[in-house]
Amino acid sequence: MQTAKEKDKFDINKIALDIIERKLDLVSIRDYLKEQFENPMWNQLFNNNYELFKKEVDLSCDKILNQEKYQTRLISPYYEQKDPKDIQAVPPELRQKVLERDGYKCVMCGSTKYPQIDHIKPFSKGGETVFDNLQTMCRKCKLRKSMLKN
Ligand SMILES: [Zn+2]
Repeated sequence: MQTAKEKDKFDINKIALDIIERKLDLVSIRDYLKEQFENPMWNQLFNNNYELFKKEVDLSCDKILNQEKYQTRLISPYYEQKDPKDIQAVPPELRQKVLERDGYKCVMCGSTKYPQIDHIKPFSKGGETVFDNLQTMCRKCKLRKSMLKN
């Protein structure tokens, strides 16, 4: 049943995308999901468990809206474990501003792969999470920097 499962996952994403793109409010989301759940396919798939269905959609929305969070976790568990505050302390809007200022490029090598936010003066040494102390750095350069530091 692997193929069926994958197809359904895809469809869940479609529902999630729909919700995000149409910027539905909570009440509309509920109505929309209830309407979707009347489809026998969903009903069957989630064993008539609406809450479960809703949870899956929520999760899917979260994944779409916070791609970076999930990507970071997938690609680089190292950072999350090593110095989670360093990443998590940067609020999304600030993060966005820094990325935009640096053109989504690593300030060291110019790579656009896996851009991450780096504290110029390290967080662990009292460097603040403010616009002027943040820069965009690719995964590799950041790793190199943190290795040099230690
Ligand atoms: Zn780099």
